[in-house]
Amino acid sequence: MERKNAWETYDEKSLKKLEKINAEYREFLDNGKTERECVDTIVNMIEAEGYRELEALIKEGKTIEKGDKVYSVCMNKAVVMFHIGKEPLANGMNILGAHIDSPRLDVKQNPLFEDPDKKFALLDTHYYGGVKKYQWVTIPLAIHGVVAKKDGTVVEVNIGEEEEDPVFFISDLLIHLAGEQLEKKAAKVIEGEALDLIVGSRPIVLSEEEKETDEGKAKAKEAIKAGVLDILKETYDFEEDDFLSAELEIVPAGKAREAGFDRSMILGYGQDDRVCAFTSVKAMLDVKKTDRTVCCLLVDKEEIGSVGATGMQSRFFENAVAELMNLTGEYSELNVRRALANSCMLSSDVSAAFDPSYRSCFEMKNTAFMGYGMVFNKYTGARGKSGSNDANAEYMAQLRRIFDEKGIIYQTAELGKVDVGGGGTIAYICALYGMNVIDSGVAVLNMHAPWEATSKADVYETYRGYKAFAEGASI
Ligand code: MN
Ligand code: MN
Repeated sequence: MERKNAWETYDEKSLKKLEKINAEYREFLDNGKTERECVDTIVNMIEAEGYRELEALIKEGKTIEKGDKVYSVCMNKAVVMFHIGKEPLANGMNILGAHIDSPRLDVKQNPLFEDPDKKFALLDTHYYGGVKKYQWVTIPLAIHGVVAKKDGTVVEVNIGEEEEDPVFFISDLLIHLAGEQLEKKAAKVIEGEALDLIVGSRPIVLSEEEKETDEGKAKAKEAIKAGVLDILKETYDFEEDDFLSAELEIVPAGKAREAGFDRSMILGYGQDDRVCAFTSVKAMLDVKKTDRTVCCLLVDKEEIGSVGATGMQSRFFENAVAELMNLTGEYSELNVRRALANSCMLSSDVSAAFDPSYRSCFEMKNTAFMGYGMVFNKYTGARGKSGSNDANAEYMAQLRRIFDEKGIIYQTAELGKVDVGGGGTIAYICALYGMNVIDSGVAVLNMHAPWEATSKADVYETYRGYKAFAEGASI
């Protein structure tokens, strides 16, 4: 049962490939810090490789043939792509699934205010997904997202990533005055409602004339907020009430970096679960042999329970399969059900990497180690596997065969010790179709922190594993 450290297995040629794919991965992380940006980045990647939009083919009355590459986007936040195989779709697909939303702070609908002492302008936030709130203070933050205006136009916002951009931050009490604060439990030391983003501190200066007008009088009351609103109007052409129809996400500012003297790791925001999204898309694009149709499904809202039209619980995926089969000439309700039930899936999500500083939370025989390859989680869940998908032994056996034949380094793990914690993924939702699904992915250190860490070797092995699965699985 001994596990291999992937780094010990590489020759020059594989190291070159490993570095290339990790350089691309970092760029992917930098370009896609929100689910919308991820979808845009992925559509650019796949269109360059000949993928065509399903909806366009429907409109043009086209048919779909073996070997065709098709994709469909749901509300700019989820995307599914298909590479049509030789076999009928009713025989099932090989599906690579992952999520492209990540924990962050969302701007509230009515967010902008000036503090009662009129010293700062701030944006009120509501955190998204599971975060240790104390990790999000005092670091440079960027604002990404969209402001949808009543006239139908959508303003894209991305502030804080370029060298010359300003950044934003949430304050924390200086250590000299923090005696009382530090007595609090870590869950309470920074409260959710206190995660207010500081966005300005300079009052607008009004001329004597302006001060006499109604507008000037209103501005003078909250002069710092007024200054911020003027800038928003000038730079982005939106008004305060346009926040009502905005989706603005606050994320750590800056690029993903190589980490360690040996540059063996990547430190970056949003690696849960964009590390699996990236490796899935890359594998999908590199698939050569397609007896069975290969599918890559990247969804939103996993961090808040896979809800909503763009989450895994939505019918979006099922509808896309039905439309696809309509264009391949295979559509019937029964065939759609068969296509789904006969599919097999790698539900890809990150796994907890062993942390040497918190050894007591892990059971060493069943823990994922960074650098030891792609991770299979037969089950996830908490308190007696509750809420878990728990994959079939026969399916796991088939995957072992495929991975061993291709020499892919993998490991099996649970998320920490029994009853210490737990988590969920999209696996149990896809399993509802009666298909074989297993959780798999990349081990991550500092999961859900502003900066998460992965091993370059694991990114590489996971890409190789997904490709081998896409080409080789045949249940
Ligand atoms: Mn995840
Ligand atoms: Mn997560």
